[in-house]
Amino acid sequence: MSDAWNIKLRMIRFRRKRERSSFREELKLVPKWLVWTCVALTFLAIVIGIGVNLHNFKTGGPIFPDESLRDDPGASCAGLFGVILLVGVLLSGLVMTVGYTYRDAKRRGMNGVLWALLVLILSQYLFIGLVIYLLVRDPLPYSCPQCASAVSARFNFCPNCKRNLHPACPQCQQEVADGDKFCPYCAAELKPSTGPVTVATPSA
Ligand SMILES: [Zn+2]
Ligand SMILES: [Zn+2]
Repeated sequence: MSDAWNIKLRMIRFRRKRERSSFREELKLVPKWLVWTCVALTFLAIVIGIGVNLHNFKTGGPIFPDESLRDDPGASCAGLFGVILLVGVLLSGLVMTVGYTYRDAKRRGMNGVLWALLVLILSQYLFIGLVIYLLVRDPLPYSCPQCASAVSARFNFCPNCKRNLHPACPQCQQEVADGDKFCPYCAAELKPSTGPVTVATPSA
């Protein structure tokens, strides 16, 4: 196990412990213009598709979605409408996951372009890229408990007030929570978190 991998795993645990995001809130991250472009393009595809279909009924050209519907323009156009809508919704969903990933990665201090590209490339396997991203993404920046300036979850100390952001037990080196009086792993006594360093020498 490399150090980078261990840090990554710690980040993931940290995120899962802290972040409870609702689907609606996440959806707001998808750029509005992207949503409307997808809606407009789907609508345009339906209009063009049905237009071509109706034209082909008159001229004897190929009929969609099935040649057997040549006697029933209504059913043919309804079927075509359904097919285009389905494809449009699926493609829009994939495009929106790319937009979402870019925005979400950026606000987490990750490489937005790189992650969006990965999700886009993996979109041939549907939403697998998004699933991977959601599993491994970094935690959101949070407020320093001492001075309230925004700090990255990767920081060990606050760059503004030097507060120890991941206080560890001096005896067993396990990470302890802010208000802990005793280490939950080895029962060593911890100083109350007043200063930048929260740990004390353990009592015998
Ligand atoms: Zn601080
Ligand atoms: Zn301990």
